[in-house]
Amino acid sequence: MQPSPRAYVPFVSVDTMMRLVHRIGLSQMMRDLADYIEEDFRRWELFDKTPRVAAHSDVGVIELMPTADDALYAFKYVNGHPKNMKDGLQTVAAFGLLADMTTGYPVLLSEMTLLTAIRTAAMSALAAKHLARPDARTMAVIGNGAQCEFQALAFQAICGVDTVQLYDVDPAATAKAMRNLRTSGLTLVACHTAEDAVEGADILTTCTADKQRATILTDNLVGAGQHINAVGGDCPGKTELHPGILHRSDIFVEYAPQTRIEGEIQQLDPDHKVTELWQVVAGAAPGRSTARQITLFDSVGFAVEDFSALRYIKDQVQATGIAKNLDLLADPDDPRDLYGMLQRAAPDLAA
Ligand code: NAD
Repeated sequence: MQPSPRAYVPFVSVDTMMRLVHRIGLSQMMRDLADYIEEDFRRWELFDKTPRVAAHSDVGVIELMPTADDALYAFKYVNGHPKNMKDGLQTVAAFGLLADMTTGYPVLLSEMTLLTAIRTAAMSALAAKHLARPDARTMAVIGNGAQCEFQALAFQAICGVDTVQLYDVDPAATAKAMRNLRTSGLTLVACHTAEDAVEGADILTTCTADKQRATILTDNLVGAGQHINAVGGDCPGKTELHPGILHRSDIFVEYAPQTRIEGEIQQLDPDHKVTELWQVVAGAAPGRSTARQITLFDSVGFAVEDFSALRYIKDQVQATGIAKNLDLLADPDDPRDLYGMLQRAAPDLAA
């Protein structure tokens, strides 16, 4: 027995997501996504917001990230397991759902491992558009794992970065990133130390994975006018920057109550001044105001960005019909006759 068509939920598999990215083009998609995020940040106050709900173990974390506006509800399920890489698994894997606030019915179920990398990169570049010097063209990327190429390409597409200096403790990761980016049009420099990577860079991106307080950037490596895009420190006890850097920087965050738990600023007093980025986007607070200022985007990833990403994918799915139909909802013709629906299916399904 077939369920009625309205019960189907559009499903974006990994394969479908890859088709969508190749149809639209990754750079275009990251520009579009940055626009969707910017649009949602401008109406920030309309969203239900809460720090994400985390289940920690010794080796990683599993998190739920919910948010909603008047029309749509979204959540993402995401993990962070730095030790996974050694077992041939992703450090970060995710999926997410968008639902209609008026019925509570899901309207989209999507893979979000790829989408998280794309939205994180779009978010980082959007922050840098407001916080980095407008003439910034060279970026260091320290940590050349799954997020690295997406970061490099978003900064090229959105901020006009033309040179990327790469460093990873594992030279194989840097070699992989060099290979993947060779046709990007970026000038690529493989570096042997973090010091070499930051030398002459206007933007410093850290996206390393380690479940500990690491010092990927020491205080002496950061100088006047630089913008830091700190992506990897996103969990209690997991940071990348020497606290001295934080004291010399103007710090911008997504949602302060979550970032104070998870971000670089967990190393600071709870009342240390930070600016939420939506205020800069909405014109309510200044971004960079001098060329010599050190700006820091303390990125942890917030639910509203995933909401924007799912909203964007829903619009693309509606425009292209590319999604598969998922039989996720029991939706009997008579809503009170759930049992009757089960009974009527017996002749077809009992064998
Ligand atoms: P990954 O495991 O694929 O790659 C991490 C890389 O960091 C590896 O290549 C590893 O060799 C390298 N590394 C580890 N320690 C290093 C060090 N001291 N110096 C230089 N390189 C080092 O992980 P990924 O998917 O690329 O994610 C990277 C980090 O970003 C993770 O911590 C993840 O939780 C975080 N993340 C944050 C957001 C966000 O929104 N802020 C989103 C996605 C991922």
